Parts: sequence; C-alpha cells; structure tokens
Amino acid sequence: MIGMGDFFMTEKRKRYRALIVDDSAMNREILKEILKDDMEIFEACGGEEAMNMLMDRFQQLDVVLLDLMMPGVNGFEVLEFMRGKHMTDYLPVIAISVDDKEPNIERAFDLGAIDFIARPYSERTILRRVLTTVSLFSKQKTLVAEIDRQYLVGDPKVDRLTGVDLKQTFFNNVYSLLRRNEDVELMMVAADIANFKLYNNYYGWEKGDCYLQEYAKKLKGIAQQFGGYVGYMGGDDFALLVPHTPAILEIIRNLAEDGSRFEFYQPGFAPKFGIYVIERGMESAQTMYDRAERALYKIKNDYTRGVCIYEQEMSAMGGDEFQMLIDIRRGEQNREFEFFVQPICDLSTGEVVGGEALVRWIHKDKGLVVPGAFVPSLERTGFISGVDVIIWGQVCQWMRQQLDAGAPMVPISVNVSKADIYMLDVTGVLDGLMEQYQLDRKLLAVEISEEVYDGDAERLAREMTKLHRSGYRVYLDDYGKGRFNLLSMKDLEIDQLKLDMGFLELEAEGVDLAVSIPEFVIRLAKKRGITTVAEGVENTDQVDLLQKLDCDLVQGYHFYRPMPAKDFAKLISSEN
Ligand code: C2E
Ligand code: MG
Ligand code: MG
Repeated sequence: MIGMGDFFMTEKRKRYRALIVDDSAMNREILKEILKDDMEIFEACGGEEAMNMLMDRFQQLDVVLLDLMMPGVNGFEVLEFMRGKHMTDYLPVIAISVDDKEPNIERAFDLGAIDFIARPYSERTILRRVLTTVSLFSKQKTLVAEIDRQYLVGDPKVDRLTGVDLKQTFFNNVYSLLRRNEDVELMMVAADIANFKLYNNYYGWEKGDCYLQEYAKKLKGIAQQFGGYVGYMGGDDFALLVPHTPAILEIIRNLAEDGSRFEFYQPGFAPKFGIYVIERGMESAQTMYDRAERALYKIKNDYTRGVCIYEQEMSAMGGDEFQMLIDIRRGEQNREFEFFVQPICDLSTGEVVGGEALVRWIHKDKGLVVPGAFVPSLERTGFISGVDVIIWGQVCQWMRQQLDAGAPMVPISVNVSKADIYMLDVTGVLDGLMEQYQLDRKLLAVEISEEVYDGDAERLAREMTKLHRSGYRVYLDDYGKGRFNLLSMKDLEIDQLKLDMGFLELEAEGVDLAVSIPEFVIRLAKKRGITTVAEGVENTDQVDLLQKLDCDLVQGYHFYRPMPAKDFAKLISSEN
C-alpha cells in the first residue's frame, strides 16, 4: 500500500508533463531544475509560442506554469485564449508573477488560473504545489470522465472542436477497419492547411477554428459518402482512411485546387494532402500515416501543389521561415516596405529613359534590408504577392504625385513574381491602380523573370499577352541567367528583354563562339522589335562590349545604383 507521502514516488509521476511559459530563460531554467525529476518539461519563451504549443499538444499536458508579465502576448492573454477554448477546464494553470498585488491575482483567477505563486518562491513550496495541483486535477478529471466521456482529456476519444476521433482512437480503429476490408484497396491521407499557424496569426484564432471545423466537415463528408474514417491528429492535422479510387482522388484534388469551396479559405492557406496508398503488409496505422505525412511534407512550401502521393522514402526537410513571415506581415502593416528606383539609360546617349522599382524593407530594428534577404522566402511560400501589391500601389501613387507637380516622368517597371501570376489577377490589379491614379498604361512596365518560364509556361504566356494587350509594357527579366530559352522570346509578347550580365560574361574570354550567342540574341530581338537592356553593368569593358553588340539600354552600378524615389525624381528633372 502506498501512502500519500509516497504518492509521487510511484511510476505514475513520469506521466506528468509541464509547460513552462516565461520570457526569461533564467526563470525557465530555475523552474526546470526544480521540476525535472518529477516531470517532463516543455518550454515556451513567450505567449505566442505558448499558444502554438497548446494548440499542438494541449491533450498531452498536465500543468502549465505561466508567467503573467511577458512582452508581446502576456500571460493574461494566454489565459484568455485558453479559457476561450475551454482548455482551462481540463488543464490546470499556475500563474506566476513578481507582482502579487491583489487585482493582478484576482484577474488571473478570474481568467481560469488554478493557483497563483509570487516570485521569489521557495523550491520546496513550488514543487509541492505543482505536484498537488496535478494530482488533484487528474482525480477531478476521472470524475468528469464518468459524466462526459467525450470531453475527457485523460482518455480522449473525440476532438471537442471538430467532433472527429482523436489520434489514438483513430489508430486503434484503423487496425480493425483494415482487417475487415481486406479486399478493398485503401489509402491513408494526411490532410492539413498550408501555413495554418500563420492563418491564426493573420486572421485570429476564432476564424482559424471555423476553418478547421469546416475542413473537418468536408473530410467527414467524403468518409460518409464513400465509406471511410477520419481522425484528428492535433493542430491542423487530420487523417483520412478511404478507398483508393479515381473518384475520391478527384474530390481531394478539387478541394486542394479550389480553396473557394471553403468559406474560411484565404489565399495562401490552401488545403494540402499527402497520400499513401496502403500496401498490405505488417505496417502499423501510425506508419501509414507517417508515410502520408511525409508526402505532405514534400509539398509543404510549394503553393503550386496541393496533393502529393507518397513514393519511395521521401526525406523530411527543415526550414524555419515562420518567424520571418510573421515579421514581414508586421512590416507590411507597419508600412516598412518602400521602393527604390534604379535608372535605366540609353547606351548611346547616356540619357535616363526609364527606371526599375526595387523593393526595400526599412525594418524597425534592422534598418535597410535588401530583397535578397527576404524575397526568395516570400517567393517560395507565395507571400510575395502581399509585398508586390504594396509596391505597385506605391509606384503608381508616386507617379501621380510627380505628374500633378508637373515633373517629368519616364516609364517605371515593377517586378512581378511567379506567385503573383498564380495568386492574383495581375492585369486586374494593375487596371485598378491605373483607374485609381488616372495613369497611362504606357508609364508602367512589368518585369517577369525568365525563370518563371520554367514553370507553367502556358499560364505565364497567357498573363503576359493579357498585360501586353491591355497596354502595359512587358519586360522579360533576367534573360540568360541559368538556362536561357530562345523559345520564350519567340513565343511571348514582350517589349523588352533584360539581359543578365552573367549571360554576357560568357564571352569575356574573347572566344568568338561565345560572343556569337548574345550577339545573335540581340539581333533576333531587334528583328522582332524588342528592345534589349543589359543589367548589372559595372565597368567600361562591359560598356564597350555592349556597344559592339548593339545593345539598346543599360542598367547597372556603372551608371547609377538604386536610389530613393525622390532622388530619382530630381535626377530626371535635372536631365530635363
Ligand atoms: P532584378 O529584378 O533582376 O533587379 C536587379 C537587381 O540587380 C537589383 O537588386 C539591383 O540593385 C541589382 N543591380 C543593378 N545593377 C547592378 C550592378 O551593376 N551590379 C550588381 N551586382 N547588381 C546590380 P535588388 O534590388 O537587390 O533586387 C534583387 C532582386 O529581388 C531583383 O532582381 C528581383 O528579382 C527581386 N525584387 C526586387 N524588388 C522586388 C519587388 O518589388 N517584387 C519582387 N517580386 N521582386 C523584387
Ligand atoms: Mg527586375
Ligand atoms: Mg533583373
């Protein structure tokens, strides 16, 4: 017989898991030191991280030790969040603070904290209080369980929010389902929502919950219609076991490709599916799900793909763009993005005949950040569109101001990413700006990178034609960087070819054959009425070469670096 005093010495103690939330690493360390023999410890260094962790592993935790005073999302807000999700009904929260004034304590209790500990505290006291809380709570949980098994945390069956069976139940049932359907080919689908954590951050947890509920409903619909079974794996992850048939694959593809089937869908937050076609063998349900999830992982950061079927060993990849994407979003709202203009000159006269708008991030802490540091990430995830639309708008507004002031203006080009072509109606957005600022389309050029042509060439060609026929100038950017493609020049309706300087360096060796390629390209362009501009011109050797090749325009440090718009305005005024 084990006495109360020995209660925590039983093997049960290892089951307990605590989440320590504190912005101070030292405070977390101290608590960890005190508790680590009796508990498995998880840590969050702020309110936001805590909320994310709670979303993911609320079910697994036994207690939360929550610092109330934290920068950003503070402890009260975490409590509010937990209470809103009824988490405080099942998971005890011990609030900790140096500030032990009565209203503070009151507020914490009102929000659902079960205990309050003032700092500094004695080691023994805190250990006893944490352990007592946990054991009392787990007893209470058993009582609750008898009343309402569905909502029980210790022995979970169904997710409260979505009404879908929880992981363990799901896995158990999959096993018997497989045994009962031995003659049907089945597939395990891992389903989630792209960038869902960011969704919560952008649109709020409440909307996020709605999206999850809607998502679960769609999956349950498929399961009901075709005979299948849905499980909730935590966070925004679901599993779906269904027959492997073309009809179901089609439905899944449609869900992934057309977000508008969801009321709470937002661009960039599309449904994603990884599929494992089950080979009968000895694998566990968990392994099947793992494989489906690995397929899902493969397309995680690829906004052009919504469904992926598991093939061989698909390796897991890392990458932490999460924080930066949140920071960029903050920067957008804080108006930290602006554009510089780099002049484009006529090679024979040196006159400034145009400019390219290039984004700059004036970060509140880091100062000026160049595109190389954030554009690739934004392009990969597709979130570049947000920034691009901001820049296009700023450029148009600025041109209008210049024209109103009677200043001279030259065509300005803006960069258009592959993601923009996929996610926006680029022509429509620009038309809106032309209307808003009463501008002539001839003043705006769009630069689309040649690299985009590697993807969905048809879609690109269609958009370029549309832009061109609407009256915008269309430039093919970075031509010759990496692989260059003569077809693109032949097929596309473009006004200007922007040659990458690397392309011209080919011939720096002076080999005739090498020179002949850019020479040929420039000649071909001229024949088709396409202007050529060399980018990244840094020295007189390059200028000489370009003159020999009969290139029309130049852009590069040798002439001008990118500059703030107001400097560019001065430059063209003085030239005038
Ligand atoms: P890009 O469109 O090819 O722009 C030309 C880049 O070359 C600019 O870099 C420019 O500053 C740089 N450059 C110009 N002359 C020289 C030179 O003589 N030597 C060297 N070494 N570099 C030169 P930046 O501003 O850092 O932009 C880099 C890339 O980021 C751009 O390449 C473009 O792909 C992307 N980007 C910039 N602004 C935007 C934007 O608003 N939207 C999108 N989607 N992408 C942007
Ligand atoms: Mg460009
Ligand atoms: Mg370029």
